[in-house]
Amino acid sequence: MMEHNLLLDAWKEGKAIGAFNANTYDDMEAIVQAAAELGRPVILMASMSCCKFMGIDTFVMFAKHLEKKYGTPVITHLDHCIDPELLYKCVDAGFDYVMFDGSNRSFEENCQMTAQIVRDCHEKGVFVEGELGVISGTEGPLKSDTGVFTDPQQMKEFIARTDLDTLAVSIGNQHGFYKGEPKLNFELLEVLAKESSIPLVLHGGTGIPVEDIARAVSMGICKVNVGTDIRATYLRTVSEYGKNWDGKNDIRGYITCLRDEIKKVAKYYMVSYS
Ligand SMILES: [Zn+2]
Repeated sequence: MMEHNLLLDAWKEGKAIGAFNANTYDDMEAIVQAAAELGRPVILMASMSCCKFMGIDTFVMFAKHLEKKYGTPVITHLDHCIDPELLYKCVDAGFDYVMFDGSNRSFEENCQMTAQIVRDCHEKGVFVEGELGVISGTEGPLKSDTGVFTDPQQMKEFIARTDLDTLAVSIGNQHGFYKGEPKLNFELLEVLAKESSIPLVLHGGTGIPVEDIARAVSMGICKVNVGTDIRATYLRTVSEYGKNWDGKNDIRGYITCLRDEIKKVAKYYMVSYS
């Protein structure tokens, strides 16, 4: 499924590919529909808990099916994985692109583990994302209240030593809903993008004004992650629909409504950097 060049092409053109967390077939389908309608590739992300909930093989099978059904490239991505064993299982199951998150480890350990994972994954043609600095909020199994900005010097060393494909940076972005106004540090992003030989990734896309996302993309971000907004839209739509339930036993109505709402959210982000 993966055409790795899609990410690099987007990066060179000053564009990005949208990356969305999904947990069921219905949100996966809505996200792929949005991408197809915009004529863009898309990245479907599974968290570690999604892998356990849905099953790795099921996730890959749904993604492959949706790629064929809608005729747009669908890249499968393992988001924030701290467990190498699970990561390798995903690689074997056919994931195109995996993130090893060693941001809670020492710099040295993050370097060594990421480098080993990159070597193993590249042998199988799988792309790897790493993280340096700490993004605040909850990211799967990790939690940080403060966050630590990515250091440009450390970043250069990290990229040189690991040979990874993309790097998630911490520039004021947060996971979950922002407490107060989201404020990206564009001065830092400018330095990081200038010093980096690989595309950078912006996590915590939910709630960042789309003009700011577009600006970050034009500066060297190639992948924008959105999870919270998809989950919140899912839950809001289901509960609204439940409130107005007419008593008929038709679940297709609610699923149609759900898909439409999620599609709108995915498009809202994607049009800003396509
Ligand atoms: Zn993240």
